[in-house]
Amino acid sequence: MTSVSPVSPPAPAAERVARLRAAATRIRRSALIMGEVQGQGYIGQALGVADILAVFYAHGDGELRLRPEDPEWDGRDRFLLSIGHYAIAFYAALAEAGTIPLAELETYGSDESRLPMSGMATYTPGMEISGGSLGHGLGIACGLGLGLRYRGNPARVFNLLSDGELDEGSTWEAAMACAHHELGNVTAIVDVNGLQADGPTPGVLRTEPLVDKWRAFGWHAVRVDGNDIPALLDGLDEIREHTGGPSVLICDTRIGRGVPFLETREKAHFMPVAEHEWQAARDQLEGDQQ
Ligand SMILES: [Mg+2]
Repeated sequence: MTSVSPVSPPAPAAERVARLRAAATRIRRSALIMGEVQGQGYIGQALGVADILAVFYAHGDGELRLRPEDPEWDGRDRFLLSIGHYAIAFYAALAEAGTIPLAELETYGSDESRLPMSGMATYTPGMEISGGSLGHGLGIACGLGLGLRYRGNPARVFNLLSDGELDEGSTWEAAMACAHHELGNVTAIVDVNGLQADGPTPGVLRTEPLVDKWRAFGWHAVRVDGNDIPALLDGLDEIREHTGGPSVLICDTRIGRGVPFLETREKAHFMPVAEHEWQAARDQLEGDQQ
C-alpha cells in the first residue's frame, strides 16, 4: 500500500498546456458572451490576447502569484492592464483566476456593475490601474518595481501593453528608467496585433524592429507567437531566469483568433459584429470542448 502525498506532483507539461488551451477558449467564450450582452466590445483584440491572459491567469496553472480571494494581498504579482479597452478580455481572465464570479461577467458595462467597459481600478477587484489613456502602464510598472524592491517584496510586475502604445514617448522613457534601475522584477508584454485605432501599425508609425529597439534600451527581449501557448510558456521560463534587468515578451497575435469568420474579417480596431453573429462566433470557437 502506498502513501498519498499531501502535495500533488507537478503535472506533465502536456497536461498543463491542454488545460491552458481550455482556459484560453473559456476566456474567448466569456468575452463573446460579454460582447453580446452589450452588443459591442473590442472583441477582435480580446480573441487575440486570450492565450496570453490564459498563461498568466489560469487558476492553478498561470504565471502569476495570486490569491484570488484576496486581490489586495501584498505578496501578489502586479499585472497592469494599460490598455483599458482590453477589459472585456481581462474580466474573462479574472473570472478564470477565480477573482470574480463567472456569472458576474453578464453585468459587463451595465449601471452599478463592477465591470465597466474600460478597465478602471476603483471598480474591479484585481484591476491594478485605470487604463485607456495609453502609454502610462510602463511608467507605473517602473515605480512599482522600485517600490517593491525597496521593501524587499519579491513580487513581480507585469505590464500588458499594445503595439499602439509603442507610439507613446512615455513608454520609452519608462523603458529607459526600468533599465537604468536594473529592475529585474519588471516584465513588459507587448501584444503585437499589427493594428491600432488609426489603422495598421506599420502605416501609422513604424515600430519595427522591435527586438532590436528593446535591446538597445537595455531590455532582455524575447519574441514569440502570442497565440502559441507552449511558446508563451517557454518565453516566460526564459524571462523568469533573467533577473539582472527588465525583460519584455513581444507577442505576435492575430486579431479575432479562434473564431475563423472573425479572424479573416477585414481588420478594424473596433470590429463590428452583428447581433446574430455572437452565437455563431461561440459555435465556431476552435478548441471548444464544451
Ligand atoms: Mg495593436
